[in-house]
Amino acid sequence: MQIAPAFKAPTRLLMGPGPSNAAAEVLAAMSQPLVGHLDPVFVKMMEELKGMLRAVFLTRNEMTFPVSGTGSAGMEFCFVNLIEPGDEVIVGVNGVFGTRMVEVAERCGARVTKVESGWGNIIAPQQIAEALRNVSKPKLVALVHAETSTGALTPVEEISKLVHDAGALLLLDTVTSLGGCPVRIDEWNVDAVYSGTQKCLSCPPGLSPVSLNARALEVARRRRTKVQSWYLDVNLLASYWGQERVYHHTAPISMNYALHAALRLVLEEGLENRWRRHKQNHLALKSALAAIGLDLASQEGHQLWQLNAIRVPQSVDEAEVRRRLLNDFNIEIGAGLGPLKGKIWRVGLMGETSSRENVQLFLSAFCQVLNECGRKTDPTAALAALK
Ligand SMILES: *Cc1c(COP(=O)(O)O)cnc(C)c1O
Repeated sequence: MQIAPAFKAPTRLLMGPGPSNAAAEVLAAMSQPLVGHLDPVFVKMMEELKGMLRAVFLTRNEMTFPVSGTGSAGMEFCFVNLIEPGDEVIVGVNGVFGTRMVEVAERCGARVTKVESGWGNIIAPQQIAEALRNVSKPKLVALVHAETSTGALTPVEEISKLVHDAGALLLLDTVTSLGGCPVRIDEWNVDAVYSGTQKCLSCPPGLSPVSLNARALEVARRRRTKVQSWYLDVNLLASYWGQERVYHHTAPISMNYALHAALRLVLEEGLENRWRRHKQNHLALKSALAAIGLDLASQEGHQLWQLNAIRVPQSVDEAEVRRRLLNDFNIEIGAGLGPLKGKIWRVGLMGETSSRENVQLFLSAFCQVLNECGRKTDPTAALAALK
């Protein structure tokens, strides 16, 4: 067998739905020497990691740590620990990730009631209220905060109140929202939450920060049946991430270094500043797009700052535009999925990637490519609208 040449990654501007670009400090942190996963130095680092995650989630939950695996592992972690066969679960479905939650919940044996909205729209409180009335004993309501497949942000507070009035738990997917817009786990009374590292935290993919409050933890501890997954069982993971430090599985050492470095950057910038930066760059992009006659496909008033779903104009070859951006400009953007396939481009402004400079770089390249693809577009108008 011929040995492949050493892999050399190109330097891309990652403006898709994730991963986003990671800061140099984060990548440098990963290249440090390995230590053992029970080394006192590593254990101290884990404690700092948990503390910083609490600060970013705005929670005091003791059980806050990164699950080994990407965002979907965090999703499975929450469902496998909280759901037993036969439990009634309500899931908001308005895109890819709500659909995935249904799939995961059903694999846990849940009886799932879907609350559906059109892709691009939010899940409204009255829809959840109605579902809660129709389900006899709802145990859990699961929602995607920021739907990365459509660019819509579902407000959580009012829904949280309805869920708790009905005696159920609230599970929230914050994979794309965390670090890019307000996420307030304690203030919103969210019982279980998961996120991912490679979206607005700007860390490579590989860990899924999670947090369970006392109520959720109690549900996981008092199960009648064993958690279906040995790897994701919080009762076992707690002995490693808690004070006992008992071996469960080998923590992905370098990924934990990276997350530690990434969280330091988030907290050094400050959550409020970081949210404001994401908002400003989204608004700048949106007004530049309006100046060249393009608009966003997601619901007005609920559009994500970190993911812009641009409606593809008639007569433009959607895939060709993405291909040229990648090949000629080293810029990656995302395609539409499901019912939005071919209808939108997904332009991410997540974490490190969300800067005025990157918005300008994107617009210049995008306008040029649109012209090449037969849609007359004036780059000067777009850039002037940035102000
Ligand atoms: C990316 C994403 C996930 C899945 O995360 P992976 O890291 O791809 O496993 C889940 N939910 C949302 C909202 C996402 O954007």
